[in-house]
Amino acid sequence: MDEKKAEEADLIAPDGKVRLFVEHPLEAGNAVTLDEGQAHYLRHVMRAKTGDAVQLFNGRDGEWRAVLDLTHKRNVKATPGRTTRAQDRAGDLWFCFAPIKKAAAEFLAQKATELGASVLQPVITRRTIVSRVNVDRMLANAIEAAEQSDRLDVPECRAPSALTSLLGLWPANRTLIFCDEGGAPPMLEALKGKGLTSAAILAGPEGGFDAQERAAIRAVPQCVPVSLGPRILRADTAALAALAIFEAARG
Ligand code: SAH
Repeated sequence: MDEKKAEEADLIAPDGKVRLFVEHPLEAGNAVTLDEGQAHYLRHVMRAKTGDAVQLFNGRDGEWRAVLDLTHKRNVKATPGRTTRAQDRAGDLWFCFAPIKKAAAEFLAQKATELGASVLQPVITRRTIVSRVNVDRMLANAIEAAEQSDRLDVPECRAPSALTSLLGLWPANRTLIFCDEGGAPPMLEALKGKGLTSAAILAGPEGGFDAQERAAIRAVPQCVPVSLGPRILRADTAALAALAIFEAARG
């Protein structure tokens, strides 16, 4: 008996089409085996069936509509059929932040991803209260945010670096946007005419930067100190504000 061909349906989650980030290369007809978490989500949360379709992206090959195969008990495969979006050139923005308490750090990883950061760089400063950063957790948050915010790539999540070593190796072509609560020109004004193709935003911990650190940051030739307004913002608020203003400045 010939199987009735399962009609292909796009899987829709509450926040939109199901988009999944994979490491594998994406090309027409080459089935990708999804990871356990994705298989579980599709099988038990989305109650997917063979023939349903999801969107796959890997940060290199654009976004593909892929048809699911759940016939194997132990895994779920997705076979790319056609591209739905060509790979775009991601921005080149490092988001350098003093790691803060767990929940806020997860919040920051998501917001920085939604707002276009290409690198998440935790920075250990003198007053950083959190020294251990769970990079895997940060990456998981970034992947989830990339899937939900329609990005075609996932920011690179780096291990923490000491402020001094980060400054010591500062790339000559990268504008260092320094969120300085101690007083600086308003961010939008300060960024006028500055090269924003390769940039970084640096925000401090709850306790702020100390005088020595502020002097060392300002000593970097590419440093552009900016103010985020007259009030002292919490570290996570400041980071979010700077990311949003940067997006506005870059247009
Ligand atoms: N405890 C410090 C404030 C630290 S706020 C004090 O009372 O001065 C945490 C970080 O957010 C700061 O290091 C800075 O990077 C950023 N930030 C907060 N408010 C800001 C503002 N108005 N302008 C620029 N950066 C700000």
